Amino acid sequence: MRFKDIEGQRILINHLTEIIDSGRVSHAQLLLGPSSSGSLALAIAYAQYLNCENRQHYHGESDLRADSCGECPTCKKYQQLMHTDLHFVFPTATTSSASSSPCSNEFIEQFRDFLNNYHQTGTEDQWYEHLGIEKKQGMIRERDVDNIVRELGLKSYEGSYKVLIMWMAERMNIVAANKLLKTLEEPTDRTVILMVAESRDRMLSTILSRVQQIVVPGQGIEVSGSRRVEYAAMFVSWMRLLFKLNMQTLSAWVDKAAELGREPLKLFLKFAQESVRACYLKTAAGVELKDELTFGDEKFNSSFPAMITNNNVEQICNALNEAQYSIERNAYAKITLMQLSFRLSKAIKNR
Ligand SMILES: [Zn+2]
Repeated sequence: MRFKDIEGQRILINHLTEIIDSGRVSHAQLLLGPSSSGSLALAIAYAQYLNCENRQHYHGESDLRADSCGECPTCKKYQQLMHTDLHFVFPTATTSSASSSPCSNEFIEQFRDFLNNYHQTGTEDQWYEHLGIEKKQGMIRERDVDNIVRELGLKSYEGSYKVLIMWMAERMNIVAANKLLKTLEEPTDRTVILMVAESRDRMLSTILSRVQQIVVPGQGIEVSGSRRVEYAAMFVSWMRLLFKLNMQTLSAWVDKAAELGREPLKLFLKFAQESVRACYLKTAAGVELKDELTFGDEKFNSSFPAMITNNNVEQICNALNEAQYSIERNAYAKITLMQLSFRLSKAIKNR
């Protein structure tokens, strides 16, 4: 993963490459941000840049100040996620084929597939779905930390930085977290631990105090004014249809939305996701809707946000996120939108 392949986050990326170039790399860092922010992709691109044998500097010719080259032997191995000094830890659970005390190493191939399928921005739910264990809660266990300690203690194979990327670090259980403290305090030479987490609240304070925290902001979407008005109107009529669920009018809406074409449709779904999040913030914390996320319909503005609550916000955002990926992978838009409509209708009524 090169930085140029990551959407947005230019200010943060330029800050990170500057720190790496200056040689002030902290050995334990925590990237905090929603999966959709690209936090995991950032960690991988960071590790690739750190080890790239021919870092590129653009001197104002790009919105990035620097990037990895993508062509040296290290970059090539990183791009296949197969470098011997790159290690991953992530939540796992027992599956029909995996042992009673599962660990990341057993699932590394599935994890690489997952990273590739979702462009390194998949969510935790999508990972469990990928493993076929949707109903289980994954965890990072003692065995994972034992493996980390062993792997990071080994001599670097290729003279590069050894990097451990721990995704969804908040899923580390207490025993595992306590075991990791010593490694965080007394790192071996030329090792970097990059933790990636969505929620600071779920991390142990003993871990937080030992890592450098980097906030990865959620991605706002860039939609032109006229398109925003169009999307807002589409969103309002869609949500109203989901309450009544009249098949004839719903399928007419779906037909029209499908006509947008792939990229505008993805953008609309992103807009819907951002709108839902804004509504949730209004319900949960009284944050008023930003101008660009009002719906141009007084009645809807005042009544709809209350429909998005703790009980359904995750479900709705996940459904919208998955639909974006289906559209991106060229799924049949009408079917995707119809299935999405049923899921959302159920979730909204379940507030
Ligand atoms: Zn390179």
